[in-house]
Amino acid sequence: MPDTIATPTTTDKSKQLFERAKLSIPGGVNSPVRAFKSVGGTPLFMEKAKGAYMYDADGNKYIDYINSWGPMILGHAYEPVINAIKERVEHSTSFGAPTELEVEMAELIKSMAPNVDLVRMVSSGTEACMSALRLARGYTGRNKFIKFEGCYHGHADAFLVKAGSGVATFNIQTVPGITAGVSADTLTAPYNDLEAVEKLVKENKGEIAAIIIEPVCGNMGCILPLPGFLEGLRKICDQEGIVYIFDEVMTGFRLAAGGAQERLNINADLVTYGKVIGGGMPVGAFGGKKEIMQHIAPLGNVYQAGTLSGNPIAMIAGYTMLKTLKDNPSIYTQLEEKTALLHNGLDAVLQKTGVPYVINRLGSMISVHFSKVPVINFDCAAHADNALFNKYFHFMLDNGIYLPPSAYESWFISNALSTKDIEKTVSVTEAFFSVL
Ligand SMILES: *Cc1c(COP(=O)(O)O)cnc(C)c1O
Repeated sequence: MPDTIATPTTTDKSKQLFERAKLSIPGGVNSPVRAFKSVGGTPLFMEKAKGAYMYDADGNKYIDYINSWGPMILGHAYEPVINAIKERVEHSTSFGAPTELEVEMAELIKSMAPNVDLVRMVSSGTEACMSALRLARGYTGRNKFIKFEGCYHGHADAFLVKAGSGVATFNIQTVPGITAGVSADTLTAPYNDLEAVEKLVKENKGEIAAIIIEPVCGNMGCILPLPGFLEGLRKICDQEGIVYIFDEVMTGFRLAAGGAQERLNINADLVTYGKVIGGGMPVGAFGGKKEIMQHIAPLGNVYQAGTLSGNPIAMIAGYTMLKTLKDNPSIYTQLEEKTALLHNGLDAVLQKTGVPYVINRLGSMISVHFSKVPVINFDCAAHADNALFNKYFHFMLDNGIYLPPSAYESWFISNALSTKDIEKTVSVTEAFFSVL
């Protein structure tokens, strides 16, 4: 192995912290995918991060491919965001009354996101999706909705049916605590299967409020919509009066300034955001056409609220991040080039190994599936050699490269990554397959 690859020395502190954490926090973590359950081993506790690198409690340095699961698209501790937070925090951390900053944030989102007349801020992607679904139901007066197997829309009850990544990692497809009544209104179809959707719509004529989808999926690894799929759904929604919801929590402000709607040139009726929109602070949003959004309280009677929604510190972080992305379109070109470099490098290495693999990518979303067949839905992702992924994950981690700890996650590329970082990632991958 090339000696330029730094190997973490000890992770004793992380191990101790994990043991201590388990005494007070369920499973030692505040969100299940952090627990390394899918890949095995002890999760690393982080101390700090800057740019493309994270440092754990033992002082080991990692090239970061999680980037807080997406928000850190410009790298960690991005200075303009940090400085804006520092400046704003002096004015108090919350008011519970409106601020000019919220108006500026809404205007900025509207100027970037296509088809958004009105936008409501919330504090997470879960809240955004949950609220968008409630709105679609309130607007249409219908109860059922369609989601796709392997798509994740946060942990609200209605969505925890065949919900991808975290849930799939733990091998649970139905979740205790969710009533049969709730899940009966959740209809599911395989991703990329238009016929299955047509069938559901026919069988439930006039009863479906919404179709919600990750326009590019990131919660069963990265999976792209086949040509015509999203367009076909658009047509069904138009014909049947169904609200078409794009869950852009992962794709929003990542695939383009205007997210998947812009990148794929398709209009949704409602859009949900999270992750990048908060610049690392807890932020989500949902928005869309005025005709639908005006049904939200206090304008309409679909209730939705939040004590800390539009929180000034969260808003200034998100605003600064989005403004940077809007004013510097070259960031998207650079992200594209960096991810392509990684893609081509991994491709060249994997081709030589004879191991079956598929690399799915669009823009700065990418994942490697050790699969013999094209990965176009959850079933394909689940039948890949995910045990091999787990070994690969640990080898990379041991060599200072932090990939998402599950084969069911997209990798999140940040613009802080250097060519050297990417080359190192490729060369460690090569080393893994040479000793395999
Ligand atoms: C992460 C994610 C969510 C949930 O967002 P949280 O902020 O974790 O609640 C919803 N939808 C998609 C597509 C996501 O990737």
